[in-house]
Amino acid sequence: MHQRVSAPKKLPGVHVDLDHGFLHSVESGGAVDGPGMRFVFFMAGCQFRCVYCHNPDTWKLHNGRRVDVDAMLAEVRPYAGFLKFAGGVTFSGGEPMMQAGFVGNVMRHIKQEMGLHIALDTQGYLHTGVEDDWFDNVDLVMLDIKHIDPEKYHAITAQYLQPTLDFAERLKRLRKKMWMRYVLVPDLTDDTDDVNRMADFVATLGDIVERVEVLPFHQMGVSKWDALKMEYTLRDTRTPTNEEAEAARDIFRARGLVAS
Ligand code: SF4
Repeated sequence: MHQRVSAPKKLPGVHVDLDHGFLHSVESGGAVDGPGMRFVFFMAGCQFRCVYCHNPDTWKLHNGRRVDVDAMLAEVRPYAGFLKFAGGVTFSGGEPMMQAGFVGNVMRHIKQEMGLHIALDTQGYLHTGVEDDWFDNVDLVMLDIKHIDPEKYHAITAQYLQPTLDFAERLKRLRKKMWMRYVLVPDLTDDTDDVNRMADFVATLGDIVERVEVLPFHQMGVSKWDALKMEYTLRDTRTPTNEEAEAARDIFRARGLVAS
């Protein structure tokens, strides 16, 4: 189960090295990045350019510090005993599959040495770069699907929707547990017809979907956009009300999905 996994394919812009990668930051007590308490690795690098991104400072691979496998293990090892019963480790970013070789290697070592629950927080776009066995050490995929309409998806992310939908189908084939995440942004992702179409799609994935997380948009990332001197187009966008967020969750619940 935990033997060496197949090396990733060299997709454009992707870092495939197994022995070193680029780490943006860590969070040792994350409570919102998977089940229980999480040690979160925020990996550097993302090929998306989401207009509501909270972490635009993670977009460039080389904005992270260069680390090897031992350095990654040393980060999490002091917490391993606690995490074993309280939660686990989450790989987030940025987009962790930008560094699929290195992240896959670190996951394998964490499983072998510490036996921790491992979650992958991803938008799924780069999944074709890895073989099925890359997911052997992943216990839960938290898949962020930004929109169900291809044109609106592209307007939000500057990338294409289909690879992410294909990835969701692949997770269904692999019987991999999944949490689907959806950022609710007024006038961008909250159209009732769009949310219904999204819920219809998620329902087709069946019982691999443990829950849907509807995440209300907020302005917490704006200072990073300003610091990077990048144009932030959502400056006047409000946070959805609790009622609006619940209404969106109800659309998923109407398909028998657990939504929070
Ligand atoms: S996929 Fe995530 S990290 Fe990448 S731009 Fe979008 S929100 Fe930001």
